[in-house]
Amino acid sequence: SGETPCASVESPVHPDRTEAMRLSRFHLATVKEVPADAEIISHKLMLRAGMIRKLAAGIYTWSPLGLRVLRRVETIVREEMNRAGAVELLMPSIQPQELWEETGRWQKFGGQLLKIKDRKEAGYCYGPTHEEVVTDFARHELKSYKQLPINFYQIQTKFRDEIRPRFGIMRAREFLMKDAYSFHVDAESLAAEYRNMYDTYTRIFTRLGLRFRAVDADTGAIGGSASHEFHVLADSGEDAIAFSNGSDFAANVEKAEALAPAGDRPAPAAAMQSVDTPTQKSIDEVSAFLGVAPAQCIKTIIVRGNEGLVALCLRGDHEINEVKAARLDELPGESVLADEAELVRAIGCKPGFIGPVGLPDSIPVIVDRAAAALADFVCGANAEGKHLRNANWERDARVTRVADLRKVVEGDPSPDGQGSLSIARGIEVGHVFQLGSKYAEALGATVLDDQGKARVMSMGCYGIGVSRIVAAAIEQNNDEAGILWPEAMAPWQVVICPINMAQSAAVREEAERLYEQLGARGIEVALDDRGLRPGPMFADAELIGIPHRIVIGDRGLAAGTYEYRRRGEAENRSLSRDELLALFD
Ligand code: ATP
Ligand code: MG
Ligand code: MG
Ligand code: MG
Repeated sequence: SGETPCASVESPVHPDRTEAMRLSRFHLATVKEVPADAEIISHKLMLRAGMIRKLAAGIYTWSPLGLRVLRRVETIVREEMNRAGAVELLMPSIQPQELWEETGRWQKFGGQLLKIKDRKEAGYCYGPTHEEVVTDFARHELKSYKQLPINFYQIQTKFRDEIRPRFGIMRAREFLMKDAYSFHVDAESLAAEYRNMYDTYTRIFTRLGLRFRAVDADTGAIGGSASHEFHVLADSGEDAIAFSNGSDFAANVEKAEALAPAGDRPAPAAAMQSVDTPTQKSIDEVSAFLGVAPAQCIKTIIVRGNEGLVALCLRGDHEINEVKAARLDELPGESVLADEAELVRAIGCKPGFIGPVGLPDSIPVIVDRAAAALADFVCGANAEGKHLRNANWERDARVTRVADLRKVVEGDPSPDGQGSLSIARGIEVGHVFQLGSKYAEALGATVLDDQGKARVMSMGCYGIGVSRIVAAAIEQNNDEAGILWPEAMAPWQVVICPINMAQSAAVREEAERLYEQLGARGIEVALDDRGLRPGPMFADAELIGIPHRIVIGDRGLAAGTYEYRRRGEAENRSLSRDELLALFD
């Protein structure tokens, strides 16, 4: 009695020790070649480092290495959400059709919704987002204003049947999202929590070590009163954001356009002025004519079809969900046709971009951002505007577009009239929305207020692309040798590289000792005990982006030194044991 049951355990296991790793026992699987469809650097490096493996289009396995990084992101997101007062739950990924019919989104959500049937022919979808499910939960759980405000969140797998999954896990079909939903008795309470989440996102992306910008976003089809996107700045980003150097103005390009007062619109893009065709249809003109709200148009494009210029409004969100078209000469106002050569010259594109014209085959389209003086660029689409002709072609067009954006917009005043506008490319990693009562109303989610009266709750929703962040971080932090993880995201802080471990008992012992010692300090250490030659061993350490590398060899040991290199620095440093340990105090 009273005896310790674990008397046989000699030294207690430090909780962090489980985090330390011997690479001989870890499945590290770097590769030299990557498939040709890996276009952007993060996709290439994630494949080369062996972080992800493709199972099907937009569907990936996270290897043990990749998962370590993903978990780092998840942990920081979870810690900051908890600190902000949100409470974690976990909702199902399979969701019933009836619930989505209650909000009308079973029809409206579009092609991204993966619909499935069970053996009884009952309809379900794989959740692309959880407004329906969480509001259903809330309408059963929340009865009184006294339970509000409350913010529920989860970190969970989503599925969106993206029309063009690409860039690895950056635009995947299955991906990991942190989604949070807050419930309120009134708009003031919602606004306060929105601010709290905005600040929390700022803390999260700062802790992750990313260069990012929060921008004003259009609430678009989702509705609601306020919305911000958080973008990691990177040239490969799919989104364009506009910000001012003279004020706090920062918005995604759609919002910047929407904000520009119509009368004040800058003259048509400089590039277009050289064309003898002064008239461009503004987004407002086209959308008013077609009955599409400007905020819902992802693009207004002018197509050169068989019957002259046709204006198209493309609605949707990256994916084009709806196309409305009108002949340009049916639109109000004057329109003038430019010939092909003029357009090529004006836009500065390769002649091939404005190829043979003709419906219903593949047709070139000219995206008209001239209305907001943002850009004119060319990309290809089929007759319905649904499929871009091919990825490379479109990528080239993007390059043209970025250059044009810079040329055209920089130096113009911004919509708030202060400072001058710059354009950068961004990767959307977070999005906060004030939804208002849209979902609560559709699903009848009410609480009793302090007068005992039923009131429809106000809602906010807040998403973070947990898995996308991993790729976004690599886009910002890489060199010829591989990934340079921000410290907070690295799979291990330190890698110990013993030289000639098999032959030298001294090296072996010292490597083990240092491994134990650093590990006991709570530092996450990998010991590369695979017995590789120095070249391949160092190449792997650099490729997978470990911030600190310590090399142990007989020569250094004789002199009482270790060879240390910080990832990204060009020189080794020869450090004594004390100097080395001091780095990790
Ligand atoms: P995008 O504009 O890139 O399609 P979204 O606006 O459709 O993203 P939200 O509905 O705002 O996405 O979802 C919240 C977050 O989930 C996004 O900010 C993004 O970081 C992430 N996300 C969305 N779609 C994907 C995807 N296909 N693959 C990886 N992450 C995604
Ligand atoms: Mg999307
Ligand atoms: Mg978006
Ligand atoms: Mg979004």
